[in-house]
Amino acid sequence: MEIEIPYNLENYIGGQFLPPDSHNYIDNINPATGKVCGLIPNSSESDVNKAVQSAKVAFETWSVSSTEYRFKILNKIADLIDQYHEFLALAETNDNGKPLWLSKEVDIPRASSNFRFFATASIQFASESHAMESGINYTLRQPIGIVGCISPWNLPLYLFTWKIAPALAAGNCVIAKPSEVTPVTGYLLAKICKEAGLPDGVLNIVHGDGPNCGEAIVQHPSIKAISFTGSTRAGQRIASIAAPMFKKLSLELGGKNPNIIFADCDWNKMMFNTIRSSFGNQGQICLCGSRILIEASIYDKFKNEFIERAKRLTVGDPLLPTSKQGAIVSKTHFEKIISCIELAKKEGGRILHGGNAIKPSGRCEEGYFIEPTIIENLGPDCKTNTEEIFGPVVTLQKFTDKDEAIMLANATQYGLAASVWTQDISNANYMASNIESGIVWINCWLERDLRTPFGGIKNSGVGREGGWDAMRFFTEPKNVCIQY
Ligand code: NAD
Repeated sequence: MEIEIPYNLENYIGGQFLPPDSHNYIDNINPATGKVCGLIPNSSESDVNKAVQSAKVAFETWSVSSTEYRFKILNKIADLIDQYHEFLALAETNDNGKPLWLSKEVDIPRASSNFRFFATASIQFASESHAMESGINYTLRQPIGIVGCISPWNLPLYLFTWKIAPALAAGNCVIAKPSEVTPVTGYLLAKICKEAGLPDGVLNIVHGDGPNCGEAIVQHPSIKAISFTGSTRAGQRIASIAAPMFKKLSLELGGKNPNIIFADCDWNKMMFNTIRSSFGNQGQICLCGSRILIEASIYDKFKNEFIERAKRLTVGDPLLPTSKQGAIVSKTHFEKIISCIELAKKEGGRILHGGNAIKPSGRCEEGYFIEPTIIENLGPDCKTNTEEIFGPVVTLQKFTDKDEAIMLANATQYGLAASVWTQDISNANYMASNIESGIVWINCWLERDLRTPFGGIKNSGVGREGGWDAMRFFTEPKNVCIQY
């Protein structure tokens, strides 16, 4: 296939590439240069209606296709993502501002892994049976029908495919919407699915913003389940629409994750990973640790070395291999992060490093760059320590014992992920059982096994993705009871 990116992106509906019915478009801006690089359809209800009509027809055959067939097609999609790895990585970086090396090492390989993983799940998935004295029950797990998948901009293709692959593997047809901030790899995925031979209408990709396009998906009565990853604010809005319609909902939302560092930790490993978890992808990973909690006896040692290491993170053109940090995804998000830093100062925060916008010279001088920022002197209750910033900004707080660490860790409305650094196995397990979050990493960060349940508690969401959890979400269980 000749793979290229047109200036006007198109929706993918019923196997065809189409403009939006309204002919409304949104500017697509490269955040590293601040320049418009294309136009994104701002689709609406009529585009979603067309996609649903196509999906309805496709569902009749896709839902009863053999698992072996789905396995082959999903694997073919994975192989093509690998084949177009370089092209996709460059597209992701131009859309999102993340360093090209990161797109190559993480985002695009993970997108093909998602398809390969769920290709296998389609042939291995099994259901339960429950024997009674008088007979037996077995559970049929049937595809739901047409499902909606809505994803954010921070890991564009990675998270888009993390939803689409299990939905297809389970036999559903999908209406999917990538973020309007980073739509290009979603568009390219449509091209890849076409080339892989995915039947027309099985996957429909509509582009547009949340209020027009996203809500049209959530509101459509024929779309029976919504898998959403994004902000807690949008998750609340989606839940308010979908709940009265009794749709199945999976909501993966915001976080304010603690990194808890004890004096007995493996120092170098902790330091290396705390820098990554603080500033990786410019701090725009839902799993980044944004509140660093440090045992008092090592607070100063940690602070000094952490600042030194943060100073070495080169911020600049994402296309350069020397740039450890790229651009913030958009002007709006850049302004939000800068205002959060100003608020931290007003709340009494002391900026230990960073705190400023950067204007790299050359092609990136109009881009949206922010220094890695480290703040101390703030208590657990201020907005800086309770509200999500989602940028390269972390705070440092001290604790004296494990119970104080737990109190600080749990002092937010979020509960997505935490990491704990200690060599004491009892302490590690005590912390893991008392921290309020869906994921706890001990002596590591961002280690992912795709079989494990992924998701948060409190305001970080409802439901779990990954492995059998995803296959169960995308199927409807039906109990069949037989009497002997
Ligand atoms: P966002 O909520 O603004 O948008 C996410 C997606 O939802 C986009 O495609 C957007 O167009 C759509 N959307 C927005 N409003 C909608 C509505 N009313 N109805 C339907 N769709 C709507 O989030 P974002 O700014 O793109 O992403 C950043 C957020 O995502 C952060 O809060 C981050 O923590 C969160 N996130 C969470 C996870 C997780 O796994 N928990 C992973 C990545 C990002």
